[in-house]
Amino acid sequence: MRPLTTPTKDIDTIVLGAGIIGVNTAYWLSRQGQSVVVIDRQPGPGLETSFANGGQISVSHAEPWANPSAPVKVLKWLTKKDAPLLYRPRVDPYQWWWLLQWLLECLPNRTHRNIVQIVNLATYSRTQLQEVRKRERIHYDQRTLGILHFYRDLREFENAIEVAEFMQRYGCHRQVVGTRRILEIEPALAHSAGDIVGGTYTDRDESGDARKFTVELAKVCLRRDVEFLYRTELVGFDYDKGARIISGVYLKDRASGRTKRYRSRNYVVALGSYSAPLLRKIGIYLNIYPAKGYSITVSTAGATNAPRVSLTDDQYKLVYSLLGDRLRVAGTAELSGYSTALNPVRCRAIVENARSIFPAAGDYDRAVFWTGLRPATPSNVPYIGRSDYLNLWLNTGHGTLGWTMGCGSGRIVSEQISGKR
Ligand SMILES: Cc1cc2nc3c(=O)[nH]c(=O)nc-3n(C[C@H](O)[C@H](O)[C@H](O)COP(=O)(O)OP(=O)(O)OC[C@H]3O[C@@H](n4cnc5c(N)ncnc54)[C@H](O)[C@@H]3O)c2cc1C
Repeated sequence: MRPLTTPTKDIDTIVLGAGIIGVNTAYWLSRQGQSVVVIDRQPGPGLETSFANGGQISVSHAEPWANPSAPVKVLKWLTKKDAPLLYRPRVDPYQWWWLLQWLLECLPNRTHRNIVQIVNLATYSRTQLQEVRKRERIHYDQRTLGILHFYRDLREFENAIEVAEFMQRYGCHRQVVGTRRILEIEPALAHSAGDIVGGTYTDRDESGDARKFTVELAKVCLRRDVEFLYRTELVGFDYDKGARIISGVYLKDRASGRTKRYRSRNYVVALGSYSAPLLRKIGIYLNIYPAKGYSITVSTAGATNAPRVSLTDDQYKLVYSLLGDRLRVAGTAELSGYSTALNPVRCRAIVENARSIFPAAGDYDRAVFWTGLRPATPSNVPYIGRSDYLNLWLNTGHGTLGWTMGCGSGRIVSEQISGKR
């Protein structure tokens, strides 16, 4: 690894974080002609929340968890260990502050406003992703077969029809479909066809491996002279609160323990769930709290009914994406702090759910489990733009849709920094 030394060249922008958001930001900044350095504490890109997510590029998933029907459901689930959304109260004022704001975002007018913002950003982002994929010839087990939401509960389905019609007004092509059409789109659902009451299908949505994309885009960045400092931890900022300026960042080399000060003209915070605690040190209070999610990845080698189309089971908050010869099943959320420990009850619940719908989709007995901390805002709308400091920019808090909104968010913040937007 490159030793941590004071940079010899002028840096235009330091991007803090090499997840899907940070790498996209660096890429678009380099396309603006900027010299960029990316910092991450991990040994490579996309090794935290962007590592094994659900894989969906889903404009159709723009309805946030904070919606009018959510508070009652969460209350009902409070004591269920395998609940799709689980709240574990802690002695943590930031958790309670987040929850209060989340309840406010469940009001119908707030939910509508948030859906509109998310549909707009996600649609823009999907187009940017398509452009980058074509231009840079990046392959990441992508599939462009759309996303199908299916429902086994009539009330959930009726609510989905309302939401789909609302989204259509803002350009999301989410069509309501009956059971016969559902089976045409995804024949692998035949096993549970009797339980399904309806669905929605968004043919322009996509899926693909977010981690693979992040790694490939980081390679493109390297070719464009972006520098990456891995195993390098951001430990603090050098700042002038009165002048509202960041004059440097303190970085610790994890191998040697040495700390150095790096400086650049601008800084972008793309630190996922850790953005909030790190920024509090300089008086910026972002309402981001980690929403822990789970995924399982199973080999589909020799399997007979793995779904080819990316799917969403809204009731159980699970999504399914075929990534090459692996089936990824991901979802559920637990508001319980920063631990990424695996809870066996929740792991089992995902396996059993997947097995019941797709009994022969893959090798469930050898499922690989993972958890990640979604950087969740109460509204699921991210923070993108300038902070209280003139040269400190935010690109963080993408919650359930960081993969979907990453490419567009990177372009937007890079253009803001370059004074174009
Ligand atoms: C189970 C699950 C399923 C999901 N499914 C989908 C999906 O289908 N579609 C979708 O669009 N989104 C999905 N998401 C959400 C998506 O994965 C996230 O929104 C996205 O990965 C967030 O990216 P990020 O770059 O902000 O955060 P991260 O990927 O966590 O990147 C932040 C980076 O900052 C680094 N970092 C943190 N602190 C420091 C420090 N002090 N110093 C240096 N580096 C630091 C970390 O190492 C990390 O690499 C899912 C998430 C989960 C958990």
